[in-house]
Parts: sequence; C-alpha cells; structure tokens
Amino acid sequence: MSESLLRVVPTVPDWVPAQDAADAAALVVSAMCPGAGELVACRYAEVTFIDQGANFEAVGCPVCTAPLDGDWWQERMDDAYATRFATLDTVTPCCSATVSLNDLEYHWPAAFARFELQVRNPGRGWLSPDEAAQVSTVLGSTVRQVFSHY
Ligand SMILES: [Zn+2]
Repeated sequence: MSESLLRVVPTVPDWVPAQDAADAAALVVSAMCPGAGELVACRYAEVTFIDQGANFEAVGCPVCTAPLDGDWWQERMDDAYATRFATLDTVTPCCSATVSLNDLEYHWPAAFARFELQVRNPGRGWLSPDEAAQVSTVLGSTVRQVFSHY
C-alpha cells in the first residue's frame, strides 16, 4: 500500500504556532484539499526531519549548487541528530559554505520542523503560491511544503 502526504511546515524549524492559529490553518488547508483522506496537525517535542520518503532523489549545495554526496549528507544528519537537531549548521565540502541542513537543496523538498499539517492522500498536488500565502497568513509563519511518497 503506498500513500502520499502533503506536509505544510513553518519555515523556521523550531517555530510552533499557538493552538488557535494551528486549528485555523488546518481548516484552511482542509478546504484546499477536498478530496483528501485525512488531515492531521502534528506537534513534535523536538525538531524533526520532515522527509519526502521515496521522493528523495538528491541533495545539493544551496551556495554553489554542486551535488552533495549521499554518505556525506547522512553523516551530517547523524551528527545533527545527536544534538536532537538543535544544531543544523554544517560546512559544505564543495565550497566550504556554512549552511543549515534545513537550507540544502533537497530534491524533492524536505524540511525540519516541530509542527506540521499533514494531509494524507491529498488528492491534489502542491499548494499554489497563493494558497501557501493564505496558509502563512493564518498560521502566522511563512511555510514550506514537503510532498512525501511512501
Ligand atoms: Zn557548495
């Protein structure tokens, strides 16, 4: 059984919305996904990697756009996980840039967050920029989207 998840998360990994803002944003997203299976708002005690599942294809450097080695990335993830993702900064091997693991070029996109609106089998694709802006306004934070396939 495969499933898809459209995951909408705050841009800043450790930012969490107030309950009423989270509820309001869930309603907005729900209205945008009328064919969806289920919508869940998830809060995590610690910053969590919001992965794209089988949609993971590659990771690149956001500064010089060089592809990053998968083993290098996995080791940096392990290091960061050891800090419970409190420290996401790392230095890229290609151009020695200090960047956050949250800001690497993930193909497809991935993110780090303590809060997500998770739409199971959304029955549609990405939210449009306009729709994402509406969610941002209600939530009180700019958002990123992750589309996961398992
Ligand atoms: Zn680079």
